[in-house]
Amino acid sequence: MSAHAIDPGTAYAAGVERLLESYRAVPPTASVRLAKPTSNLFRVRAKTNVRGLETSGLTGVIAIDPGARTADVGGMCTYEDLVAATLPHGLAPLVVPQLKTITLGGAVTGLGIESTSFRNGLPHESVRESVILTGAGQLVTASPTEHEDLYRAFPNSYGTLGYAVRLCIELEPVLPFVALRHLRFHSLTELVAAMDRIIQTGASDGTRVDYLDGVVFSAEESYLCLGTQTATPGPVSDYTGRKIYYRSIQHDGPARHDRLTIHDYLWRWDTDWFWCSEAFGAQRPGIRRLWPRRYRRSSFYSTLMRYEQRFRIGDRLERLGGRPPRERVVQDVEVPIERSAEFLDWFLNTVPIAPIWLCPLRLRGESTWPLYPLRPQRSYLNVGFWSTVPVGTTEGQTNRLIERKVSELHGHKSLYSDSYYSPEEFAELYGGDTYRDVKNRYDPDSRLLNLYAKAVQRR
Ligand SMILES: Cc1cc2nc3c(=O)[nH]c(=O)nc-3n(C[C@H](O)[C@H](O)[C@H](O)COP(=O)(O)OP(=O)(O)OC[C@H]3O[C@@H](n4cnc5c(N)ncnc54)[C@H](O)[C@@H]3O)c2cc1C
Repeated sequence: MSAHAIDPGTAYAAGVERLLESYRAVPPTASVRLAKPTSNLFRVRAKTNVRGLETSGLTGVIAIDPGARTADVGGMCTYEDLVAATLPHGLAPLVVPQLKTITLGGAVTGLGIESTSFRNGLPHESVRESVILTGAGQLVTASPTEHEDLYRAFPNSYGTLGYAVRLCIELEPVLPFVALRHLRFHSLTELVAAMDRIIQTGASDGTRVDYLDGVVFSAEESYLCLGTQTATPGPVSDYTGRKIYYRSIQHDGPARHDRLTIHDYLWRWDTDWFWCSEAFGAQRPGIRRLWPRRYRRSSFYSTLMRYEQRFRIGDRLERLGGRPPRERVVQDVEVPIERSAEFLDWFLNTVPIAPIWLCPLRLRGESTWPLYPLRPQRSYLNVGFWSTVPVGTTEGQTNRLIERKVSELHGHKSLYSDSYYSPEEFAELYGGDTYRDVKNRYDPDSRLLNLYAKAVQRR
């Protein structure tokens, strides 16, 4: 540390002071909200003139303990900064969401998933304890042994019970490179069967699988992407320049092999926001060549997207072209693996969106998390699709169809984007009674919005 650098613990302590001060400055009649420079939420939220909570001192890594394999982290620390601090120790968080500006607190309260989720579950399962600023303005330590009700209800509460100020998480050892095998499938049933076998055995063709996700381009063209950590040096690919990662997966015939550094593997989806950078022309060779490298990242595209949403640029262009406006269908859903081929079939025949992202998931432990009640010892497939479709005759028609199908298949839908559930359905799906009790205990004066108001009513 240089003579003038502030020790991370001191910076954190000062950050907590500023946070508490800003909490006290919010008028008692106004909702308390975060003031945060980045967001990966996809809902359009109501504007407010009240200042949000000051979180600038809570963005750092406070300490890493390589022996214990844990990290003590500010709640608003981005995974980009967190990974930059852990990799030099040969360690990484157990689940690193794909978008660099997702924060640890955001991924724990809003859920996150990645290609380690088939063996490591979800980000909140590796939280040992967290310090939470509750709606009542108190700092509370939540862990499996202290304030357990808050610890369990926090995942999927989207900042409606309190804000994670500091979290202690487990880390796992990683090697410098990831060897990739992309397997092509012509049938989704076969792809799901192969995925299930890998989840059960942790291997494919006798080789250990550390990372597992996939992409569907159509019913006839889908891929599983298998990653194995390795220390063997050798050439690696680079998808932060002209070449585009998701295109590199596509092939016909036997497995395609590739290699990335662990850093580039963890951020492989960020450069082109999966494939969504296409909407801005960033994948056209001419434009890509001119597109500054520092703006080839998800946070830049999402800023562009927010402008688009604010000024409804897409709808205006559609109207100029004589076409109807479009409905945003940006969702991640989890379907039990045995029903997932059925879901994919239905989806491809009903919703005109491709590619779609696949990521298998199994809870890591035996505990359940009441606001997102996945079942332990059961495999799920996360299906992600992020695009638009022509509007239907009712608001959110396609989104509602998807909600119904997911419920019919006993799946679950993440809440980072638009939702249309009735209050009764919502309470049934997202731990209604438990949520009410925990909310009454930690936010008795409703200083924070409630989950339904945030997730469905977009407040
Ligand atoms: C297109 C798209 C694709 C996505 N894909 C993935 C994916 O592949 N993998 C994945 O893991 N996730 C994915 N997400 C979801 C993302 O992880 C969640 O939306 C997450 O909550 C975003 O975290 P953030 O830090 O950006 O939080 P924000 O967007 O700033 O906030 C999200 C919500 O969490 C609350 N919140 C933020 N910080 C805290 C805190 N410290 N304590 C309590 N509450 C807090 C906010 O009040 C808000 O309600 C995707 C989202 C989008 C839009």
